Amino acid sequence: FDFRDESFSDNEKDIDKQLRPLDFDDFSGQNKIVENLKIFVKAAKMRGEALDHVLLHGPPGLGKTTLSNIIANELGVSLKLTSGPVLDKPGDLAGLLTNLEPNSVLFIDEIHRLSPIVEEYLYSAMEDYKIDIMIDKGPSARSIQLELNPFTLIGATTRSGLLTSPLRARFGIKAHLEYYDVDVLTKIVKRSAFILNVKISDQAAVEIATRSRGTPRIVNALLRRVRDFAQVKGNGSIDIEITLYSLDALNIDKFGLDEMDNKILLTIIDKFKGGPVGLSTIATAVGEDTGTIEEVYEPFLIMEGFLKRTPRGREVTDLAYKHLGKIHYGDSPT
Ligand code: ADP
Repeated sequence: FDFRDESFSDNEKDIDKQLRPLDFDDFSGQNKIVENLKIFVKAAKMRGEALDHVLLHGPPGLGKTTLSNIIANELGVSLKLTSGPVLDKPGDLAGLLTNLEPNSVLFIDEIHRLSPIVEEYLYSAMEDYKIDIMIDKGPSARSIQLELNPFTLIGATTRSGLLTSPLRARFGIKAHLEYYDVDVLTKIVKRSAFILNVKISDQAAVEIATRSRGTPRIVNALLRRVRDFAQVKGNGSIDIEITLYSLDALNIDKFGLDEMDNKILLTIIDKFKGGPVGLSTIATAVGEDTGTIEEVYEPFLIMEGFLKRTPRGREVTDLAYKHLGKIHYGDSPT
């Protein structure tokens, strides 16, 4: 049972749409980013120009797609969505770009997974709103230049470390989304409960927020499951009892850590005496790549105080020992 799984059923997708904030005021958290984006959007609108290209990076489920939708809404323009792995031929990209309305938004998810040729085409499109395409084959092959409407590219990535520097340099606006704190997640879970028309107590909202790994997508997924329990096992409204019961039944970690988080901590404790240990050694031991650990897992573990970065490597904290029910042999016995 994986809350990070994005393969929702159609019904779940509908709910997801319902819960998605549509304008800046509806979007909680990431205050600094939102404040800045509001100004850039307003300025672009006042000038009647396309907003500069935007790169959103950060772990999955923190609102990159949501923000892109909001930006398009606030600009009053249309949005086309695609993703790096889907755009595998330059022709696909050309088709998309030549059909964009003036000043509209093209959203490319997982932009770090664009093929190098497609990426190359994107450079001139981003810079001069022009693309060169090859027509015909063999001896009659020639390249023609197409003018594009001004547009805004919004690229989203969980792995900004994999972006090439020429691509990165073409984004005028770059924002890094951070994990959410419990207060903001509590606000989000209450808002979602309101939209789903289900009663939730303050205590229950805080509990769900605490177990959601700093991630709005997980908050909403947990809320939906707890709502199911409340409906079947309770009286339909979400109080702390039914919440604790559901979270227990679902095997949700007390601190919202997921399997990989726990595996990383356990590995450092069991195999490396709690650290310090180098990032690549941890990566090999848990079978995940270095960049994903560094950009997706570590920030949350550090924020929650389970892990420390030291000059000699990564070290787990006492909280991690306690959470995993391990004895810290480094401590002197009391
Ligand atoms: P990403 O693109 O970063 O993976 P999404 O934009 O798809 O994340 O967000 C996942 C879900 O979480 C969305 O459906 C939305 O309902 C919710 N969400 C994300 N950020 C927020 C926020 N700041 N406030 C309220 N809901 C949010």
